[in-house]
Amino acid sequence: MKKIFWHTLLWLNWGIIFWFWWTNSGKLISPNLADMAIVFGRLAGLVAAYMILLQFFFMGRLPFLERVFGLDKLAKIHKKNGKWGFYFLILHPILLVWGYSRLAKISLVDQFLDFFFNYPHVYLAVIGLILFIIVVISSIKISRSRLRYEWWYFVHLIAYLAVFTSFWHQIRVGTDLLSSQIFYWYWIWLYLFVFANHLIFRFVRPIYNFFRHQFYVIDVVRETYQAVSIYIGGKNLDRFQIHPGQFMIFRFLAKKFWWQAHPFSLSILPEGKQLRITVKALGDFTAQISDLKIGTRILIDGPYGVFTDLFCVSPKVLLLAGGIGITPIRSLFEQMVKKGRDVSLLYLNKTQKDIVFKDELEIIAQHYGGRVKHIISEEPDFSGEKGRIDQEKIQRLAPDYLSREIYLCGPIPMMDATLKILQELGIPRRQIRYEKFEL
Ligand SMILES: Cc1cc2nc3c(=O)[nH]c(=O)nc-3n(C[C@H](O)[C@H](O)[C@H](O)COP(=O)(O)OP(=O)(O)OC[C@H]3O[C@@H](n4cnc5c(N)ncnc54)[C@H](O)[C@@H]3O)c2cc1C
Repeated sequence: MKKIFWHTLLWLNWGIIFWFWWTNSGKLISPNLADMAIVFGRLAGLVAAYMILLQFFFMGRLPFLERVFGLDKLAKIHKKNGKWGFYFLILHPILLVWGYSRLAKISLVDQFLDFFFNYPHVYLAVIGLILFIIVVISSIKISRSRLRYEWWYFVHLIAYLAVFTSFWHQIRVGTDLLSSQIFYWYWIWLYLFVFANHLIFRFVRPIYNFFRHQFYVIDVVRETYQAVSIYIGGKNLDRFQIHPGQFMIFRFLAKKFWWQAHPFSLSILPEGKQLRITVKALGDFTAQISDLKIGTRILIDGPYGVFTDLFCVSPKVLLLAGGIGITPIRSLFEQMVKKGRDVSLLYLNKTQKDIVFKDELEIIAQHYGGRVKHIISEEPDFSGEKGRIDQEKIQRLAPDYLSREIYLCGPIPMMDATLKILQELGIPRRQIRYEKFEL
């Protein structure tokens, strides 16, 4: 399904929500400030509830949504939507408490206490709000790298409890909802749709795949001083549909590992017999991955990602990789040259010791064509290309870059710098595909 379908559905729901609010609360609009605060306070509550539902929808790992936008883009939208949803969530009680306190001519505190003790289920809304505040604070901390990813992840799980308490409050005291049976059931179905999909794709599908394919570690092979490849076997792998360039989320069922799930890209062609991921030691989890024992069972969620050649229309491609960003590019390179595309790969590393798949890339290029150029940034004695990927190198090493589709993957700073360079070179945005190792 195309983007336009999802945009239309999104706006249709906004339209329905606004229409019901307008027909019920809209008639209370008057020059009186207290009335206005109440009317817009109710609207803020509806907007916040819809945006919170969208949060779960975006991160439900729904294949039909993911295939259109990609999980990394959905994660980006999730962050932005979460921020705005939170503002409306805060605005909702502020406006209502203020509006009703003015009408009743009592203090804000008395009004709040009246709501809390005398209205059914308002205490649930307060609990929900506190839980959401904790989730938001943890997200701000993770974006400033002051919180470990795993801590943030577990704190994030309380959003499920928060949404449950808010939902209960909404269907019990939501004035606009209770004013119309149709609007009431519309919301119930909205919640059911989002959470049923969330449950199926986020929880049931990985467990189903686990039993269907029985993934396990068949080998652990060191590639460089920092990177190891994990070879994965299982049953019916020919029926596990994955494309070069995609990634999966792995939970290794072993003592030190089972409680964390991490995303890694497929680093070979999926030929139905085995899968392979290649992991660079960047933190506590990845540093220990070489300790995995052969036979370890694996829960795999996915595949995900739109960093594939499925929509690549040009016969010529320029692949740009930095460091461990080579993993999806490695499988794409092999697939593309085997399909007869004209492929140039520029691969940036700090030193020659960091190059992953040096021999594999050479063998593929020798057998099937394609050019591989290594660029080394921190080894003055290197006899080949030195420095970083810049305008001059792209113009010289891939002079027909304007007619090539471009795939980019690497560390975030390298990707941001390269995207800027590609823009300066006048390459249209639609010609560039990239995968950020960031969700
Ligand atoms: C789509 C995608 C594909 C990836 N493919 C590869 C690959 O093929 N090879 C490879 O070596 N690395 C890949 N990564 C990066 C890899 O997932 C992280 O390096 C790894 O999760 C870091 O975990 P850590 O505990 O060792 O490091 P930490 O120091 O805990 O984390 C380093 C950073 O990695 C990110 N991160 C940590 N844990 C997770 C998690 N569970 N889920 C998502 N992000 C997390 C956070 O941004 C964190 O700041 C990929 C990431 C993404 C999003």
